[in-house]
Amino acid sequence: MKIISNVEELRNELKSLQKEKGADVKADVKVGLVPTMGALHKGHLSLIEKCRSENEIAVVSIFVNPTQFGPNEDYDKYPRTLEADSKLCEKAGVDIVFAPSPRDIYDEYYFTHKETTLICPPYDVVNKLCGKTRPGHFDGVCTIVGKLFNITKCDRAYFGKKDAQQLFIIKKMVRELNFDIEITGCPIVREEDGLAMSSRNTYLTENARKKALNISRGLYKAKELHKKGVKEADTLTDTALAYMEGLDVEYAEIVSVDTFEKIDIIEKDPKSKESTAIMLVAAKVNSENSTVRLIDNIDL
Ligand code: AMP
Repeated sequence: MKIISNVEELRNELKSLQKEKGADVKADVKVGLVPTMGALHKGHLSLIEKCRSENEIAVVSIFVNPTQFGPNEDYDKYPRTLEADSKLCEKAGVDIVFAPSPRDIYDEYYFTHKETTLICPPYDVVNKLCGKTRPGHFDGVCTIVGKLFNITKCDRAYFGKKDAQQLFIIKKMVRELNFDIEITGCPIVREEDGLAMSSRNTYLTENARKKALNISRGLYKAKELHKKGVKEADTLTDTALAYMEGLDVEYAEIVSVDTFEKIDIIEKDPKSKESTAIMLVAAKVNSENSTVRLIDNIDL
């Protein structure tokens, strides 16, 4: 496994790996990409394993992307654990860890002018849910993901359903900008007690973790109620919210899986097992002297 920070070096390594695996004799050598910000956990590993199993070459990118963080967010203190991450990747059979610095990724202009060319999805999809309190976040996400697609020329890319709005927006970007890349959404990986795994869980004290657990408890309760026949979104979100006392809930909303637009009544073809709606929550938990923002969701 190679750990590479430079874009040209990555491109050269990919070319020689492709050759090694027979691409020049017309063998089908697919490149799979798992974009991450590092501090890898089992959630990331599930994406990496899927990528490994479906592609001849597996690339994991590790980059804490400054353009997706707001001025008062945790960019500086975000956990950076490249050594441990690389070991996990090696064990998982990854071919290349791409771990650039901001200067490997962004042009000098970005550092002098604090601006760069951005990929900006439509206002209506980025300025709700997470985007409402994180203006510019999804522009930053789409820009870095688009750049990583161009840098790696990957055939497939893997994203977690934990960041459901992000997955929705990336799929839309790929469709609308004609990226020739297959996007796969992977299930949320949880701790045994239900807490969705997240790199930010490392910020939680024991007490804060107990409070954070109420996010998934609330979501599961709402799903249970929906299974019993409750279709009204307000009733379901109120049920989930009742569990989340002591948390500063930013939003708890039910949206359509297809459009990500808010829905009031969950309609479903009784014969179909497919979920048509998803409940999403973002909440802040006080942990020592800081607040930790966590997100989670569940298919209904
Ligand atoms: P991050 O490093 O937080 O930017 O996440 C990188 C990728 O891993 C994203 O596509 C996330 O949705 C995915 N991911 C993070 N946590 C989980 C989880 N608990 N289960 C599944 N995927 C996850």
